[in-house]
Amino acid sequence: MLPLDPVIAPPGSQGFRDAGGIPADKWHADQHGETLVPTHCCFCGVQCGMYLRVDRHGKVFGVEPRNHDINRMRLCPKGIHAYQQVNHPDRLTAPLMRRSRDEELREVSWDEALDFTVSEIKRIQREHGNDAFGVLGGASLFTEKSYLVGKFARVAIKTRHVDYNGRLCMVSAAGANKLAFNIDRAGNPFSDILLTDCLLLAGANVGECFPVLTQYVWGARDRGATLIVVDPRETAVARTADIHVALKSGTDSAFFNAVLNVVIEEGLTDEAYLAAHAAGWEEVKANVAHYPPSRAAEICGIPAEQVVQVARAFARAPKAMAFHARGIEHHTQGVENCLSVINLCTATGHLGKPGAGYGTLTGQGNGQGGREHGQKSDLLPGGRSILNEEHRRQICEIWGIEESELPGAGTSMMEMVWQMQRQEIRGLIGICNNPFVSLPNYAVVKEGYDTTEFHAQFDFFLSETAANAHVVFPVTVWAEDEGVMANAEARVVKHNKAQEPPVGVRTDTWVMCELARRLGAGDKFAFERTRDVFDELRRASAGTVIDYSGITYERLEETGGISWPCPSTEHPGTPRLFEDGTTYHADGKIHMQVVEWHPPADPYDAQYPMTLTTGRTVAHFLSGNQTRRLGGLVEQTPRPWAEVHPSHGFRNGEPVRVVTRRGSEVFPALVTEAIRPDTVFIPYHWPVPTAANALTIDALDPRSKIPEYKVCACRIEHAGTIDEVPAPPVAPGHVAYPETQVSRTDPLPPTAPQGRGTSERS
Ligand code: SF4
Repeated sequence: MLPLDPVIAPPGSQGFRDAGGIPADKWHADQHGETLVPTHCCFCGVQCGMYLRVDRHGKVFGVEPRNHDINRMRLCPKGIHAYQQVNHPDRLTAPLMRRSRDEELREVSWDEALDFTVSEIKRIQREHGNDAFGVLGGASLFTEKSYLVGKFARVAIKTRHVDYNGRLCMVSAAGANKLAFNIDRAGNPFSDILLTDCLLLAGANVGECFPVLTQYVWGARDRGATLIVVDPRETAVARTADIHVALKSGTDSAFFNAVLNVVIEEGLTDEAYLAAHAAGWEEVKANVAHYPPSRAAEICGIPAEQVVQVARAFARAPKAMAFHARGIEHHTQGVENCLSVINLCTATGHLGKPGAGYGTLTGQGNGQGGREHGQKSDLLPGGRSILNEEHRRQICEIWGIEESELPGAGTSMMEMVWQMQRQEIRGLIGICNNPFVSLPNYAVVKEGYDTTEFHAQFDFFLSETAANAHVVFPVTVWAEDEGVMANAEARVVKHNKAQEPPVGVRTDTWVMCELARRLGAGDKFAFERTRDVFDELRRASAGTVIDYSGITYERLEETGGISWPCPSTEHPGTPRLFEDGTTYHADGKIHMQVVEWHPPADPYDAQYPMTLTTGRTVAHFLSGNQTRRLGGLVEQTPRPWAEVHPSHGFRNGEPVRVVTRRGSEVFPALVTEAIRPDTVFIPYHWPVPTAANALTIDALDPRSKIPEYKVCACRIEHAGTIDEVPAPPVAPGHVAYPETQVSRTDPLPPTAPQGRGTSERS
């Protein structure tokens, strides 16, 4: 176990409570001769600025807010607790290994773990070909490391199979943005929200998933903007909205088509803007004629008048903005849903102005930057296409390889798991991801991973996925290295190193470069530091839409962040797109796309008549590998629940079995009028047997390949015993958390406020 510094950790505090509970120094910072390291939160795509407090021994021991213009001193619960990961007793500090899954993981030397990994890569590729080995990266990695994942897979491992967990995040928005604008990023800075007259949030639980962004939403509302929220649940932000459209999950494009129908019928389109800047308008107009409000009312389960209200409020506003998030993106029609919002913004001329525009809210800290430079199966650095000959040639020149050596396009994350099931992919390296919790249809995921002949995982805590691996490489947390991330505005921000990694821990950059060296590609990976990777990345992005060539670490430190494209060191960056109405298509037009609504993949029937939808809660982050170990966050939300409408006759805390075609689990009921009677909600941050993703369907959007997390058919039943939340895995020989610290079986509902009609409030 990693020993805690006695100065910052009082005697007897080695356990869970002090690692993740109150600050070990009781906030007596002046006793420590501390320094404050300016950096950003590691969690969501808002990327709030913060200071990490470092004691005289060089250890991170606390956090202070920072007056960065993104967050103006504010942090959410996750941000406040983020630093507690750094010196947490669960940190992995030595490589773990086993030669077969029948054995237990044991600590080994770096040499032994690296040698075994390299020998397994070579064996599998010799027997089954290069593409029998895959790499899965992560969108919490710095952009430099994301760049390196793509290069490592293609140049060192020489496989086409590389993808990343951002595939589970905002790729539907990315696909829509590329189709409509030929650029994959949000159009406006957050500060524009404060200037708008009408703010539409679709499938974006801002208060819990992007908490600090709430200040912008309420700032706009306080200045008189109309707030419209489209969400099956009455979330915290929906409760404060002027119009809350509680539509049935999986019906978004039908709703937005109908809104556009009304905009046209009432003569509220911006014809001058359309004539100057749009292509495909006539086709879109003809198509939405088939979506009158009455049809949307039937499909979406809402009053037809709401469609009219939204159309008038949005189109009549002098300046309007639309933001969406996973609520409309996690669907087999995720790209179409986003396109239907773009069509509305285009037809009303609400794009490219202060207070008027469109964007997606990134879930992961580097969800944006993580896909910009080649970690995605079909992309090369600078958002280049791996299928485009010219793009391939440009990158091969920078990487110093022949074009014939560069593999082609691979498949998406979920498709790779299906290929693992079929033994087409037999070996895998996973880098900072946790698919055992984050991917849908857990049984399929487990089978896929169990079928691999070799699996190595990089992480700083032993995730559920890492615990199943043959090799686990202990790597740095974000505060132990420097690097950049791009937030939901496409603003590149700089994270700074606050402490040295614990003995035995290496950076992800070092591990990839060392594996590459042992695979014979060391000359292409001669990076001493992560900042050396950034310099190559800047060159690799030059001349593309995602141009980082003018961004330097020094400029980021001076400015607090620069939005790409930034083609020279004199260029100020591009916070707002389309200001002159010109897009990045060759003709400069917005390419409007016809969108047809279709039903979700999982059909309703008498056995499965209800909708299961999933999402996040404020205290936890994604697969929970980081936040389920931090005491304050676990105390706030120790376990998942099933949110059900009072009409089903459950009492708060009563066991409710949620059954889908994939399986069933029992949760405590949270009874609330804030959810549709035909819908059940479960937060997804926990592993089996309390994993929402044991129930979800692994159906994918055909274009973005995002899974349909937000809607599957289910039923609910009364049950006997609530399924128990397992403690997070720890390395062999380490002490598991005392289970008495936080009850994981308490049948009471969670403490997170869930709104109107909960018995907690009545
Ligand atoms: Fe971190 Fe996001 Fe919370 Fe800001 S809003 S503190 S970036 S989790």
